[in-house]
This record gives sequence, structure tokens and C-alpha cells, in this order.
Amino acid sequence: MTTEATNLAAVQTWAELYNTDPARMIDECYTPDAEIIAPEELHLTDRASFHAMEKAALQAMPDRQSEILSTVAVGDKVVVEGRMTGTNPGTGVPLSVRWASILEFEHGLIKKDRTYLDWSVFKDFHRTAEFRDVEPGLLPTGSDISGFYDLSSQALVELWDESFHAGYFLSDDDSNRQAADRMTDLLIERLALPDTGRMLDVGCGIGAPVLRLAGTTSATITGISINKAQVDEANRRAGAAGVAGRVAFQHADALAMPFEDDTFDAAWAFESLIHMDRLKALREILRVLKPGARLVIADLLQTAPMTAEEQEAAAEGLARMSAGPLFTREQYHELVAEAGFEMVDFLDVSENAVKTQRRMVEAVHARHDEMIARFGPEVEELMDLMLSPGGQLEQVGYLVCAARKPL
Ligand code: SAH
Repeated sequence: MTTEATNLAAVQTWAELYNTDPARMIDECYTPDAEIIAPEELHLTDRASFHAMEKAALQAMPDRQSEILSTVAVGDKVVVEGRMTGTNPGTGVPLSVRWASILEFEHGLIKKDRTYLDWSVFKDFHRTAEFRDVEPGLLPTGSDISGFYDLSSQALVELWDESFHAGYFLSDDDSNRQAADRMTDLLIERLALPDTGRMLDVGCGIGAPVLRLAGTTSATITGISINKAQVDEANRRAGAAGVAGRVAFQHADALAMPFEDDTFDAAWAFESLIHMDRLKALREILRVLKPGARLVIADLLQTAPMTAEEQEAAAEGLARMSAGPLFTREQYHELVAEAGFEMVDFLDVSENAVKTQRRMVEAVHARHDEMIARFGPEVEELMDLMLSPGGQLEQVGYLVCAARKPL
């Protein structure tokens, strides 16, 4: 056999043992002094730590499985591309992530393994794995966000509306529902969704916005949320609305979606990117959109500079709602371009949205005791957040924009 053929056969065994017996994989497929590198993540040079790392990883995600998608062998190297699937034990969310390894062989054994993988999708996994020191990041994890909504989904319906996004107010007399629906209509106009198309709702809440969209189109709609209870409630509502055949919600993480490339004709991220690493989320959405398809975004916007004190108040409020940092208009344009989208149009709707916060404050004042009696003392935290100074800052505005995946 040529070196390449021997190495390719070894790669098959390596992949099988990874799924069935990782300890044997280490002992039988690697040289005793093999170097294991995951760029920016880990660098191991002794077998004992390799064993410890795999053991911890397996404990953290017992059902992980990898499959090989392609291999290329040249000389003493094999480049392997694959996909790993499993369940994130922190959130219960199924994950699917692509990886690539460059393996360097010596006498049929791997002496250097350089594996590339987007580790950020395993944030919660890292938390539980002992082999790695975890730096507390700026961004919330999937279980933080899901926990936030466990607490607040029902309370939000009471204190604001069943749409978990800002309203677009034209007058003081508008009801919360009218304003929230008007914001939804603004996004619907921008979607340019063909009647026969497939639409993706990234961060669906309890489904109110896409159920409104479903009334305007016969397209097929898929919504995802990191919070399982929301998904169940959204599916119940789709059933009640008689559209369950073409509107379905599923439990999934926007940062690693269980969809093939080039699947959707349009998507929106309706006040959901706020909880995510925006660049990663946008790249993942770009992946699943067809070329030419649109993404419509509604998100918070920083409309003017803040003093250090105001920045602190904003950061505190955002952290409490499991949200990431604020972006300015210029930063948003850069972000969208960096993710690979072309901006189609950008609206600053801060003035029409600002009343949302005031309505929440009024509702908390009017219904504080009743809410605690109904939902228990935990709901105090959400009400507190609605009253917090960070939420009242005039520099915290709102944007609606449409972007397009290049043809
Ligand atoms: N678009 C809905 C809900 C907005 S609230 C509406 O307008 O009513 C934000 C939503 O994003 C919640 O449903 C939350 O669970 C979801 N979300 C946040 N991070 C997510 C992630 N990483 N993956 C999937 N959904 C996420």
C-alpha cells in the first residue's frame, strides 16, 4: 500500500474509535508523544492530558458523534472534513457543527493533529469541561437566554404583548398590540418572500410575528428558539390558527442551525440578535439562505454617544436581559457587510419605538403586586429590569434593516 492509502485507512479507524472508544483511539491511533492542537483553544503534548481532555469532553457531551465528510491524503498528511452532532447538555439543544483536521502521520500513527472547529457553539459544554479554564465572556450562553425566557415569556405577554419586540407607535392612543403589529408589518414588507417560498424565523418567541406573516402569504415558515417552552407554545398557536401544516417551530440554536446550506428564500431575526454573538449568527443565517434571499433584522441601536455612567447602566441592563453589546449605525453596517451580506435598506425607527419602554414601565407600576401574586416572587426580577435606568436611556434606539445574500 502507498503511504496515502495506509493513512486513509488509519483515518477510518480513527473516526470509528472516536465514536465508540475514544480512549482506544488515543492509544491506538496516535504516537505516544503526539501533539494535539485546536487553534486558540488547546495545545496538548502528553498522552495523559489527551486522555483527561477526551474523558471530560465525553462526560460533558455523552452523545456526541462525528462523521467524515471528505478526506484528502497527500504525502504524510491527511486533511479530513467532518461533522459533529450531539446535544448541548447545558441547554438540551441539538448541535451540529462542521470541523476540519489536518493529521500528520508517522508509520501509520498520527503525530500531529490540528483540528479546526467553531468552539463557541459549545459554550455550555466548555463550562462543564474541566480541561479548560473558562473565561467568563461578554456574551450570554444558550442556557442563560433560555433561563431568561423561562422566567419572562408569560410575564412579557401580561406586561407588554404576545409579540416580544418593540412597537412602532404613531400615536399615544395606539394599543401595545397595534404598535407591535405595525412593527411586524414593517418587517413583512421588507421580506420580499415569494408565496411559494420557505421562510426562517430566527428567535421566534411564542410565534406571534410569523403567525401574522402567515396570514399574508402561503409560504412555508420555520421558526426556531433556544427556549423549548416557547417552541411548544408557538406550535400550539400555529395549530389553533389552522396553519400547522406550513408553519412549524423547533428547538434549535441559531448559532448552529440544523438546516442545509441555501435552504431559505427569506429570513428575519426579529429582536433576537441582541442575545447572540451577532457576527456568528449572521454568518450562520447567511449559510442557510439561498443566494439573493433577504434577511430582515430588528435590533437595538445606539443612536448617540454615552457617558461612562450611562454606558455602565446600559451594560448592566443588557446583561440582565442576557443581551450582548449595543451597536451604532456605522457599526451595524460594518457588521452586516463583514458577515457577507449586502445592506438593502436601513431605518432608524427609534422615535416610533421609544414608547415601548414607557408602556412597560406603566404596566409594572400598575400591576406590580398582581403580577407577584400570579407568577411568584421571581417575576420581580423582570419587572425590576423593565424599570432599570439602562432601559430608559435615550441613546438606546431601534433599527429595522434589510440585507441580502449576494447572488
Ligand atoms: N421574534 C420574537 C421573539 C423575540 S425575543 C418576537 O418578536 O416575538 C428573542 C427570541 O430569540 C427568543 O425567542 C429567544 O429564545 C430567541 N433566541 C435567543 N438566542 C437564541 C439562539 N441562540 N438560538 C435560537 N433562538 C434564540
